[in-house]
Amino acid sequence: MVVLAARQAGGEATNRTRTTAATTPRARVTHADAVVIGAGPAGSAAAAFLADAGRDVILVEKDGFPRDKVCGDGLTPRAVKALQSLGLDEEAQGRLPGWDRQEGLRMYGGGVVLDLPWPVLDEFPSHSVTATRSLFDHTLARHAVKRGAQLWEETDVTGPLYLTTSRRRVSGVAYRRDGDGGGAEGVIRAPIVIVADGGSSRFAVQLGLHRDGRRPMGVAVRAYYRSPRSTMGMMEGFLDLRRHDGEEGELLPGYGWIFPLDDGLVNVGWGLISTSEHFRTTNYRKTLEQWVAGLPAAWDLSPDTMVGRPRSAGLPMGHNRRPPVHRGALLVGDSAGMVNPFNGEGISYAIEAAQFAAEAADDALHTRSDRALDAYAAAVADAWGGYYRLGHVFLQAMGHPQVMRLCTEYGMPRRRLMDFVFRTMAHLVNHSSKDATDLLINTLSRAVPAA
Ligand SMILES: Cc1cc2nc3c(=O)[nH]c(=O)nc-3n(C[C@H](O)[C@H](O)[C@H](O)COP(=O)(O)OP(=O)(O)OC[C@H]3O[C@@H](n4cnc5c(N)ncnc54)[C@H](O)[C@@H]3O)c2cc1C
Repeated sequence: MVVLAARQAGGEATNRTRTTAATTPRARVTHADAVVIGAGPAGSAAAAFLADAGRDVILVEKDGFPRDKVCGDGLTPRAVKALQSLGLDEEAQGRLPGWDRQEGLRMYGGGVVLDLPWPVLDEFPSHSVTATRSLFDHTLARHAVKRGAQLWEETDVTGPLYLTTSRRRVSGVAYRRDGDGGGAEGVIRAPIVIVADGGSSRFAVQLGLHRDGRRPMGVAVRAYYRSPRSTMGMMEGFLDLRRHDGEEGELLPGYGWIFPLDDGLVNVGWGLISTSEHFRTTNYRKTLEQWVAGLPAAWDLSPDTMVGRPRSAGLPMGHNRRPPVHRGALLVGDSAGMVNPFNGEGISYAIEAAQFAAEAADDALHTRSDRALDAYAAAVADAWGGYYRLGHVFLQAMGHPQVMRLCTEYGMPRRRLMDFVFRTMAHLVNHSSKDATDLLINTLSRAVPAA
């Protein structure tokens, strides 16, 4: 009876579930140890880690899988390591159908082309992988279910439940589900609430937690093309983008990418940061077309080879929604603005934060004390606080096209300097190493306060 109720609510009940349900579909009450809002990388990873720890977890996703998500689809060695931490070893190798594997980054800028192999480090693998987010997110959500989490698809979390009328402590979520037989509404009561509903995070706003406008934001657009570049075995990054509309155009303070995918496709995109004066006035899709039109004809990137339509979205960077523990809820991934300001990467941080959050949540359930949740905020600040502040300083400078141009023209011909820049931007550092590059990046990150 109990299991049936969970299935009707969209869940895949497990033999571990302790779910209880009320009698009418419109007043359903479900209990769990933890509820996770959103099944992107952050939410699915958090659900998988918590289920692995033996906890009863419900992962709620408003869409149905597979579903698209605007992204570059790039998983750097940092993200590959995060996949390994989840136990997704085959996917991390990048050799399964739908997955592609690369050995480095080809960087274009200042008239120079540099091939930078991923560094060989103790703490990270030396390859990257790509997979469309449609495949990637579905894989992670299925993985969470395999680990024992319930996945409720096509279920929209509509707001928080509180423990008391003072609203100091969240104690679950309300949800709505539109199905063939009419809508269903209900609540999930859980001592642990993990917020992983992405950059706009309606749930965080409902908790009264807004984005900090002084912290950086990015906007990027991407499109898929059928192109011979899909077999290049390298990610490609472009430091100086120009508008090409018949003549040599203005240099843009963003950066572009071409990432190869399996099956003859490439993901092509470019992004701008909020420190740029063009941030709010640029037509992102048109600029993508103009930039791509100036790339070599042999790459075959044209409106004829485009698959689907270009789509854009925001990148919440540099911990731009704080604190990550608020009214007892834990914010993970884009909902807490965890995108790396240096390179726009968010997936690895979403998964790493999910692990920190799951550990703190498991501890809090074990000790029956919210004090354990503070360990999550401390772990995030300790892991990336200083580095992200450094990234903010970097973005302030890069928002000026002249500074960007000078850096590109001076830096690109200097191989050792670019190796350093490359590792700094990709955040690929051994923490306990005596290597000069590791020492310098670690020292710089520590020198900047995390707040
Ligand atoms: C153009 C672009 C390119 C990018 N390229 C890269 C890249 O190459 N590599 C990289 O590492 N990062 C990249 N990023 C960043 C990356 O996409 C994000 O950092 C990452 O998706 C964050 O994961 P998340 O789980 O926190 O959020 P999301 O992936 O946004 O997932 C949030 C989930 O919550 C669900 N949800 C929302 N509201 C509700 C609700 N009310 N109820 C239930 N479910 C809800 C959503 O449907 C979604 O499934 C890029 C971003 C953009 C915009």
